Amino acid sequence: MTLTDLERFTVRRSSAEQSRASVLPPVLPPTGHFIGGSFVPGSGTRLIDVVDPSTEQVIASVQAGTASDVDIAVEAAVAAQKSWGATTPKERSEVLSLIANIIEANREAFEIIESANTGKPRSVAEDDVSSTIDTFRFMAGASRTLTSMAGGDYATGHTSVILREPVGVVGVITPWNYPLLMAAWKIAPILAAGNSIVLKPSEQTPLSTLKLAELVAGRIPDGILNVVTGQGRTVGQRLAEHPDVALVALTGSVVSGQAVAETAGRSVKRVHLELGGKAPVVVFPDADLRAAAAGVRNAGFWNAGQDCGAACRVLVHESVAEEFTEHLVREVGTLVVGAPGAGDDVEIGPMISRPHFERVKESLAEAKAAGLQVAIGGSALEGPGYFIEPTVISNVPAGAHIATHEIFGPVVTVESFSTTEEAITRANESPYGLSASVWTRDSSLSLSVPKQLDFGTVWVNAHLVLACEVPWGGFKGSGYGRDLSLYALDDYSRTKHVMINHSA
Ligand code: NAD
Repeated sequence: MTLTDLERFTVRRSSAEQSRASVLPPVLPPTGHFIGGSFVPGSGTRLIDVVDPSTEQVIASVQAGTASDVDIAVEAAVAAQKSWGATTPKERSEVLSLIANIIEANREAFEIIESANTGKPRSVAEDDVSSTIDTFRFMAGASRTLTSMAGGDYATGHTSVILREPVGVVGVITPWNYPLLMAAWKIAPILAAGNSIVLKPSEQTPLSTLKLAELVAGRIPDGILNVVTGQGRTVGQRLAEHPDVALVALTGSVVSGQAVAETAGRSVKRVHLELGGKAPVVVFPDADLRAAAAGVRNAGFWNAGQDCGAACRVLVHESVAEEFTEHLVREVGTLVVGAPGAGDDVEIGPMISRPHFERVKESLAEAKAAGLQVAIGGSALEGPGYFIEPTVISNVPAGAHIATHEIFGPVVTVESFSTTEEAITRANESPYGLSASVWTRDSSLSLSVPKQLDFGTVWVNAHLVLACEVPWGGFKGSGYGRDLSLYALDDYSRTKHVMINHSA
């Protein structure tokens, strides 16, 4: 097999960005902080430029929040939480349904903003918005089903009642890869459980969260959802240390999670962490190799591989490694790279920022310098925009750096194994434990292998399929805490035991 025998992926560059420049301004949100139900200017003077990574153009500037902005937002959240926490599940459910309806009625504005701020293809932005709406709808229903252990007489002459309560004010810190959706994964269960929120979006992608704030202002109780924009080391840090924040939830990198956990530990604050991943894709010799390759095409390159669950590290049985790699390279050759406006068939957008683009390029350069085999792609595209070619690196030796650290780009590595035990050991030899997949038609392997894999989600003959009913979250370096499902509602509430003495 040589590269020239294979179809190459397509690159589309267009002037369609100019037309986007005219649709964006009318949908852009206000750029202050959103505190107590209104936009306020903030105490600092510094602004942060927000860049479209497909054009490298500045599309907005937001406030670089300060610790005192956080303090004001927390005060508003504390005040609002008292009455919000006292509402019934039915009342909270109605507010969550209203938020879902508001997003649905404005879905095009959200899609335009999300594509412009992240460079992601419109199809990915559409999926993000649909999943966001579904998250609010699911939590609207789920919040009414929360139960706790039945009350009863567990000590002679005493009746116990178990109450489930909100924790109070929750600080939320979100990443840039799915700005609106990752905010929704936090906002929906946190509000559903009766808490109020101070949310800091990624400084790189604050626009869709600010848009949400703009659209819900005056329609949901003031102060239950506050947004302070700014940097992690100021706004995020203050959220993690503030004495009136009961819990801090972060989706982001391991380094940020460690910083937040360390700070939160000083006030014994609860912490909820959804961190990085490096998902292994274990392909057994009996697997449908074409389906596995198509699965990696979709799940390894969705959102340009900037996904914590991306199918980025293939471990394939040595007897089928060559055949699988051929299928995969052919699949990857059908991908279309370009800016969101360059065509409806674009599937791969840019890296989020120049520093991230440089990091991905460095990983590729390092792999090439180590003599690894680039089966397709392997380079950056000419600018403007931070585009990387969809890349497959084959015949990767065990323990290679590119196969063990998170690249967070359109790069998939292929390693081979000879026994099932080796596949399991090598898959588990990762500091991360977020997700993995197993590809086999053997019913015994499809149960026994997932049970031995140390990952919070294991798919069989699938990868990156999510549903609101089931939990998402990792083990080991991927953090702790669960997003989605009833488990998220558990994480964002607390139980209280009230015991009544009959004879008093
Ligand atoms: P990041 O860690 O750089 O930033 C995430 C957020 O943390 C941002 O809002 C940032 O400002 C903030 N932050 C940074 N340093 C901080 C500090 N010291 N204190 C408080 N807040 C701080 O991550 P990113 O680059 O935005 O996102 C990519 C990372 O997120 C990847 O590692 C990816 O795997 C992970 N991620 C995980 C999941 C999941 O569900 N497990 C989902 C999406 C992304």
